[in-house]
Amino acid sequence: MQNPFRNIPSVNELLESPPLREMVDQVSHSVVVSGVRKFLSDLRHDVQNAAAEINVPSAAELAERIAEWIENDETPALRPVINATGILLHTGLGRAPLAGEAIQAMSDVGRGYASVEVDLASGERSQRVLAVESLLVQLTGAEAAVVTNNNAAATLLTLTALAHGREVIASRGQLIEIGGSYRLPDVMTASGARLREVGTTNKTRIADYASAIGDETAALMNVHTSNYRVVGFTESVTTAELVALGRKHHLPVIDDIGSGALVDLTKFGVADEPIAADSIRAGADVVLFSGDKLLGGPQCGIIVGKRAMIKKISQHPMMRAMRVGKLTLAALAATLRLYRDPQTAELSVPLLMLLGTPIENLRQRAQRLAPQMAACDGIATADAVDDVTFLGGGSVPTQKIDTCCVAVTPTKGNVSEFAARMRNGLPAIFGRVSQDRFLFDLRTVFPHQDAQLIKALDAAAANPPAGEGPTAGAGDQPPAPDGGSQESPSGDGAWR
Ligand SMILES: *Cc1c(COP(=O)(O)O)cnc(C)c1O
Repeated sequence: MQNPFRNIPSVNELLESPPLREMVDQVSHSVVVSGVRKFLSDLRHDVQNAAAEINVPSAAELAERIAEWIENDETPALRPVINATGILLHTGLGRAPLAGEAIQAMSDVGRGYASVEVDLASGERSQRVLAVESLLVQLTGAEAAVVTNNNAAATLLTLTALAHGREVIASRGQLIEIGGSYRLPDVMTASGARLREVGTTNKTRIADYASAIGDETAALMNVHTSNYRVVGFTESVTTAELVALGRKHHLPVIDDIGSGALVDLTKFGVADEPIAADSIRAGADVVLFSGDKLLGGPQCGIIVGKRAMIKKISQHPMMRAMRVGKLTLAALAATLRLYRDPQTAELSVPLLMLLGTPIENLRQRAQRLAPQMAACDGIATADAVDDVTFLGGGSVPTQKIDTCCVAVTPTKGNVSEFAARMRNGLPAIFGRVSQDRFLFDLRTVFPHQDAQLIKALDAAAANPPAGEGPTAGAGDQPPAPDGGSQESPSGDGAWR
């Protein structure tokens, strides 16, 4: 019997081939050698386990394939994309883009050592942590603040520190799910607190909370229904009413406001989002929100409130597991500094800039882009169209934001194939599909990216889709948007 591996070339033979020699120059000898070894070992495994004899490709062909495979492997799976979905806070696309000031601050502290929190055990805190806290105090009116990895961590930590083994009263109308893995009742269970549900889906009154209060009660909780609204025959309780009840029974009120706007965004068409300072003013003891939603900063969770509560939370042993690193602290502090003057924030926080772009600007850009796109190979039609978009795929459908898009139809193939090609291009572009057209929604495209849209279309026309895209595995799976698919931004409505 013949040796089934006889046709497989040696590592050295392959390394001598032109494509792999070029790879060595581009990447490094050790990366290519280990790539070749891995590829050959997979091949041997396939040959050994094949039912019939496998035709091993020629050495030259193998070298080509291995070089291509290594090249794909070298392209980072996490890389910049152009967000043409129109969804401003797309969780699958990393939520808020950061301000230049935040990026500079991260670069400054990332490059070397920094005055980060040195010794948690002694309780002594560095200037940097204190600086973030004092900015948060200044901007929300709270007594104290602490920062965690995200709002999910903030909620978990707060519930553990304040209510472990006891009851937290919350309305049945507010038991939210923020994407598959975040469900308030499950977070409550994980924290060791017991959820005491009151009221009904559509109506919860202050009397419902009052009659549930007992020896086991540790806190009252209010949760902003970020991604849905109960409308029609409804009744709910304000934070102020909850605070009045809490004071009477010496119970803290935890207010999870979700997106956490620091300034009023009504003029941008965002009217329904709670503002952190309002909740503090209403008397909430602990207010929780995300740093990378409407605040437009880095991913983090922000806890502001009464000094005694914040102390209890930040001294809990779980705090260490939830805290943020120097890059997040630096980016958050830089973003918060912009908010000291709301006008500066509007001009410098990218999320607010995108949100505040006048519709007339978007129209002009769409009208300029449409004929350029129509002239690209592979594009049958391209038109500027007015449309509406949403904050996050999950945010409320009542909060429509005016926008303008370029709607294109490809000459060949269907629109979802076209969308897949745009996602796999360089740069990768995510748009949305509506009525058999692919929409480039300019609400979330930065003006300097307009030219890149045209480049990407030209590149797509020059490289018709192969069986396997060059980035298969990295970009072929659409990232989870905030509920629904990026093709339907109004989707099912969940932050993820
Ligand atoms: C988004 C959200 C969360 C989760 O925040 P992350 O920062 O994504 O962890 C929790 N509660 C509410 C009300 C939210 O809107």
